[in-house]
Amino acid sequence: MYDAKSMKAEEFISHEEITDTLAWAEKEKDNLELIDQIIEKAKKRKGLTHREASLLLVCRDKDRLEEIYKLAEQIKKDFYGNRIVMFAPLYISNYCVNGCVYCPYHLKNKHIARKKLTQDEIRKEVIALQDMGHKRLAIETGEDPVNNPIEYILESIKTIYSIKHKNGAIRRVNVNIAATTVENYRKLKEAGIGTYILFQETYHKESYEKLHPTGPKHDYAYHTEAMDRAMEGGIDDVGLGVLFGLELYRYELCGLLMHAEHLEAVHGVGPHTISVPRVKHADDINPDEFDNGIDDETFLKIIAIIRIAVPYTGMIISTRENKNVRARALHLGISQISGGSRTSVGGYVEPEEEDENSAQFDVSDNRPLDEVVRWLMEMGYLPSFCTACYREGRTGDRFMSLCKAGQIQNCCHPNAIMTLKEYLTDYASEKTKEIGEKLIEKEIGNIPNPKVKEVCVDHLKKIEEGVRDFRF
Ligand code: SAM
Repeated sequence: MYDAKSMKAEEFISHEEITDTLAWAEKEKDNLELIDQIIEKAKKRKGLTHREASLLLVCRDKDRLEEIYKLAEQIKKDFYGNRIVMFAPLYISNYCVNGCVYCPYHLKNKHIARKKLTQDEIRKEVIALQDMGHKRLAIETGEDPVNNPIEYILESIKTIYSIKHKNGAIRRVNVNIAATTVENYRKLKEAGIGTYILFQETYHKESYEKLHPTGPKHDYAYHTEAMDRAMEGGIDDVGLGVLFGLELYRYELCGLLMHAEHLEAVHGVGPHTISVPRVKHADDINPDEFDNGIDDETFLKIIAIIRIAVPYTGMIISTRENKNVRARALHLGISQISGGSRTSVGGYVEPEEEDENSAQFDVSDNRPLDEVVRWLMEMGYLPSFCTACYREGRTGDRFMSLCKAGQIQNCCHPNAIMTLKEYLTDYASEKTKEIGEKLIEKEIGNIPNPKVKEVCVDHLKKIEEGVRDFRF
């Protein structure tokens, strides 16, 4: 039944293959020789199969676990350097016809404030985000064909890209909307989106159907095959994710990696990003009612194993997680984080009153973007507002070629420096600016190609003079 190349959800995410894998991993979990072989393979930086990763996930040997964490950290450094890409979510409508039992937007929730932003309200939200310094957004909506049709999403994308407030600009709009048709994915591609993000929530079909009892999202196959339709529609940067807490995490990690293997096998390119959300408290949602919640240690172990299993895939963590967990997760493999986020509709312009609550989940990291940027730099990271890749046509496997050719330090690195310089010049507090300028000074020295270094230094001067949007 299991076939990574099949276009049928139940064949490329085969329940049997997952249960067999988990049983095999359980049987081999103390086989240190085999675990060592897998770690050796991971050191070659070509990734791991779902079987290999599943075995590492049940490994209990402290020394091996330590080795896995060290390797995750090293792979992250080798592929991403110290860059951390910044983004913010933008909730434009919470109208929804689905019945997802973990989400406060579910149709039966009659007391939540339902909001849908007009184009003028979107404009105001985007100006607020630009004034914080953001250049990259992820649009979020509920699923509602009447209130949130594709035309509304397309118009909103157009509005977002059109706003140029002071030196601000949103240069990359990622989209996290419900599974849709090839035709609609094509329209999103034409509208110039970056990544299409869709969380699987759970790969376990039976649980999926129970967790999504009503509405179009109930259809497991339609949801699970969405990334194939997105790719058919021309979008080659897709973002996967599991909502941890809904099902057994071992099942989910295995399913997630099988999904990545499927995309690679069929389309020749794996997922651009993987997100790792955990179920959070929200309006009428109590995360304790879900039996499969995972503690921080398990969560971090999952992140480290994803990092070594798919080294070329970016990893995203949101403000669902608090500062301490985020700090550790960054170490082990996260390459993109949100900052200063609001998960309510219209929340950037007007923070909500107690009784309004249109938010999708409670945020655990409430710090403003400036504080998050400073905190990153204090930990030795280089916050990046870069959006160059897809604007230069480096999507899908072309980004991978850049990685493989070892050109990251001559391309992504100077782009990160230049976009950080823009941020410091236009938006940062004095304290953040001071730390940032010193960091830039140091990072220039890490550009290997002398010509690139010279051009970068020249661009930095021009940024001080008011010119914007340089990129390699
Ligand atoms: N409505 C879209 C869909 O059908 O996939 C996706 C957009 S939704 C605004 C973004 C994601 O938030 C969901 O895919 C889900 O994983 C996550 N989410 C929903 N409820 C949550 C909760 N209580 N805690 C944490 N994350 C949640």
